[in-house]
Amino acid sequence: MGRIDRDSVLRGFDGQSRVIHPRAAKREAPHEGAFGGGHLSCQCQDSPIVVRVDAQVQHNHLCGCSRCWKPDGALFSQIAVVPREAVAVVENGDKLGVVDPSSVIRRYACRDCGVHMVGRIETPSHSFYGLDFVHTELSKDAGWAAPTFAAYVSSVLETGFPADQMPFLRAQLRSLGLEPYDCLSPDLMDVISHHAYFRSRSLGRREMAEVAS
Ligand SMILES: [Zn+2]
Ligand SMILES: [Zn+2]
Repeated sequence: MGRIDRDSVLRGFDGQSRVIHPRAAKREAPHEGAFGGGHLSCQCQDSPIVVRVDAQVQHNHLCGCSRCWKPDGALFSQIAVVPREAVAVVENGDKLGVVDPSSVIRRYACRDCGVHMVGRIETPSHSFYGLDFVHTELSKDAGWAAPTFAAYVSSVLETGFPADQMPFLRAQLRSLGLEPYDCLSPDLMDVISHHAYFRSRSLGRREMAEVAS
């Protein structure tokens, strides 16, 4: 898990967007044309883990939760989803380990450098089952969809960010074109709620069928 240098984050947050996330400071121009994916590498100098992603990512965003991997000194992680069929570990997969086996999202990290390579959900009833979480900043390939919002913003308080700086932080995120939310974005929250409705309906039907049989 990315180590946050708390003091430098707290001292350094004077509106510098690199403290929010290094990539937030230099937003790349939108990629023209189709982009079919690329490779992600961990930060090991020797024998890095390489993951191939054969698709463009969706819902790329910054995340303020304390569990996603962050580059050192950054307040937020940058994370996106991609269909799990599009993800393959192609080099040094033996260095991967699950960060927290009790977590719904199994975050597979490099045992040597600590970078999270893939987050996977193994619970079929989960709203995001079938999607893997990846950090596109681990790729040298140009063309990944840029982050479009910031999730779990209030969670940065859990890592020691000063509460009185929150209005400034939210304003800064907005100025970067990253609307701040304290959960996920409205469209993703809609997906979760819609999924919950259908799951409860299908469970109800199964119970009725059992009563009738
Ligand atoms: Zn590594
Ligand atoms: Zn997160």
